[in-house]
Amino acid sequence: ETQNNINDISREKSAELYEKAKTYFPGGVNSPVRAFKSVYGTPLFIQKGDGSHLWDADGNEFIDYCCSWGPLILGHNNAQVREKVIEVLQNGMSFGAPTALENELAELILTNNRFIEKLRFTSSGTEAVMSAIRLARGYTKRDKILKFEGCYHGHSDSLLVKAGSGLVTFGETSSAGIPKAFADETIVVSLNDTNALDAAFAEFKGQIAAVIIEPIPANNGLLLQEKAYLQYLREICTQNGTLLIFDEVISGFRVGFEGAAGYYNIQPDIITYGKIIGGGLPVGMYGSSAKIMDHISPVGTVYQAGTLSGNPVAMAAGIAQLNQLLQPGFYEALNNKTTAFANAIQQYADEKGYHFKVYQIRSIFWFAFTDAEAIRAAEEINPASMVDFKVMHRELLNRGIYLGPSGYEVGFISSAHTDDDLAKTKQAIFESLDIVFN
Ligand code: PLP
Repeated sequence: ETQNNINDISREKSAELYEKAKTYFPGGVNSPVRAFKSVYGTPLFIQKGDGSHLWDADGNEFIDYCCSWGPLILGHNNAQVREKVIEVLQNGMSFGAPTALENELAELILTNNRFIEKLRFTSSGTEAVMSAIRLARGYTKRDKILKFEGCYHGHSDSLLVKAGSGLVTFGETSSAGIPKAFADETIVVSLNDTNALDAAFAEFKGQIAAVIIEPIPANNGLLLQEKAYLQYLREICTQNGTLLIFDEVISGFRVGFEGAAGYYNIQPDIITYGKIIGGGLPVGMYGSSAKIMDHISPVGTVYQAGTLSGNPVAMAAGIAQLNQLLQPGFYEALNNKTTAFANAIQQYADEKGYHFKVYQIRSIFWFAFTDAEAIRAAEEINPASMVDFKVMHRELLNRGIYLGPSGYEVGFISSAHTDDDLAKTKQAIFESLDIVFN
């Protein structure tokens, strides 16, 4: 318990809704981290979002740095996205047949991305990654996949092994309900460790269909990798006939229009995207060379489908959002704003001698209670430091700042965050750090 905190926000309506929700949904939620298990208080039920701001059921207003876990790079309720969605949904919501909107979104993506030639839309990041893994297995005719400790790739069976996010938060390394035979096909190694990669490729020679990585791991803190390491990964995959999959569900269209592949200038074999391409509606996709993608049904033998895949309303939101990202200077402004924000907080912490670091890449940031200049592997995070995050989270909520409810989650800045928002947020962070460290 902390001293001298200002009054806690009122949560009467949220608490009431949460009690009801618990009778309908396991833990009262439809996705686990939303349950606020690792921070103080009951979950806030959100009523409205506009620009960088959120309002909860009790009327509390927040500046939002969760941004729906990443999709809202233009902030909430962006006018152009909303108007395009309204225009398209006047014509009906789903046909289960092709529409021109799918072509339009695909063309926007493919003409502005040097790393893929063909793609397939899905309705979530999980589906995109699950399908990419199946494609890699079908293409290579191998069964094993290799993933990294702390990287999260959605909740499909083969990938829920030592994943980050909610799993780390709940102290689990895996999930019940996954057949051992599936988990046996998934090799897990630490990030930033070339020896571990060498050992895995030696032990499972000729058996690894794909290596999957978040090239900017952002689901278990922000575990920024060095470019040389990612290049090593590219080379070892090529040498072994293993496909390299970049899971860019977070980094795609976030660190730049071409995501991490463009940022590091590394050509993966398959890329998965989600979040930002849907403009806040459910869209995922995977893409690759035409040669590899043509292994997908109906031309190829790898089956993958979806009733709502390429849904016109979701495509409309994606088109309206991506068109804005392509405006000259969009990313530069967003990146500069975030860098200045991160630097100011780091400077304050350093001046006060606080054991606190802001790790940042482009418009993604992570607060860590540590002195380490860099944290590159999940095992380097001290779980005890999450107690400090918990205090900080409450103090920030009380000061009108909304962060994702776990110290393992990263924050996002959108183009809707104003200088005034960022100034208020910095002040709230300074006060919260003073409370944590005094
Ligand atoms: N891959 C990564 C890197 C993610 O961050 C996520 C979700 O956070 C997923 C896959 C799964 O996406 P979705 O939650 O849309 O199923």
